[in-house]
Amino acid sequence: MPRPILATIHVEALRHNLSRMRAAAPDARVWAVVKANAYGHGIERAFDGLRGADGFALLDLQEAERVRALDWRGPILLLEGTFEPRDLELCSRLGLWHVVHCEQQIDWLAAHKTQQPHRVFLKMNSGMNRLGFTPAAFRAAWTRLNALPQVDEVSLMTHFSDSDGPRGIAHQMKTFAEATRDLPGERTLSNSAATLRHAQDAGVRADWLRPGIAVYGSAPDYPENDAAHWQLRPAMTLTSRLIGVQQLQPGDTVGYGSSYTAEQPMRIGVVACGYADGYPRHCSTGTPVLVDGVRTRLVGRVSMDMLTVDLTPVPQAGFGSEVTLWGRASNGQVLSIDEPARAGGTLGYELMCAVAPRVPVTVDG
Ligand SMILES: *Cc1c(COP(=O)(O)O)cnc(C)c1O
Repeated sequence: MPRPILATIHVEALRHNLSRMRAAAPDARVWAVVKANAYGHGIERAFDGLRGADGFALLDLQEAERVRALDWRGPILLLEGTFEPRDLELCSRLGLWHVVHCEQQIDWLAAHKTQQPHRVFLKMNSGMNRLGFTPAAFRAAWTRLNALPQVDEVSLMTHFSDSDGPRGIAHQMKTFAEATRDLPGERTLSNSAATLRHAQDAGVRADWLRPGIAVYGSAPDYPENDAAHWQLRPAMTLTSRLIGVQQLQPGDTVGYGSSYTAEQPMRIGVVACGYADGYPRHCSTGTPVLVDGVRTRLVGRVSMDMLTVDLTPVPQAGFGSEVTLWGRASNGQVLSIDEPARAGGTLGYELMCAVAPRVPVTVDG
């Protein structure tokens, strides 16, 4: 028998979360962002839940091929554009739309021989200082692109650094609006947090949304708001089982480094899940976990293949009991991925992307 750990992908939750994003901005079209293998869910596994999107946004050319192999005929956008000139051949062959964020990418396009002109998304660095043309250089890049016979449509794009936090997006919106005022073309600006938090701003809704994390059921601005607040459902559940139980007496310690000491008699359960499965090693005593769908806590250190949990709130639990590390338990109880992520000093993003290859995955729905 294999180890009892299992990741489950909930197709219905993906569908639901995508519809939440649509509801936030009903007039916009929606890219489902499926980079990093659909945030660890698996492009092929997630596809059925996301096929209602208007397009797929990703950055790996092989992932674009995988989406086309699923018979997706609609738009696919390469969020970082091309990495070398010959990538343009694949863009031509598969009809990929691509971001243009630097002069080199324009040079490559100018030298590219193609029957079919490309649709490109010209990216502005409006303050994030990662990819894109500065506002001052943007117009010249637009003019150069627009003059190329290899290009048939130029859309405009930027990305927000603080859509999930107190600084917000107004400063970047202003920069973008000023530098693009009289330029034609569709606009795409908003990730999940901007879509949910700033949708009342007409600029945010513009043309195309680019939600990722919310589609997978994690709140982009946790802990200020949680997934329930945004009515998002977990798209991934990580479950395992108790493979051992220990009865502790006061003074007994648990695991490596004896980081937890029992103060009274208690039962602890040993779970077949550790950091080699992708569970964060930085989660310490107190991190929430569900046993038989009942909320309890991790105690002691996470080790490579196991972790230990307090069975005090679940006296009926024992060998073989279901453990939900995140997602939805059999009894319907939900533990958002955002909770263990925060306890481990990280984000839901990282946890869902980091589920280890040794964890078997199944699709529900
Ligand atoms: C990853 C990414 C997104 C999606 O961001 P979320 O925070 O997951 O919604 C949108 N746009 C770009 C350019 C990205 O790289």
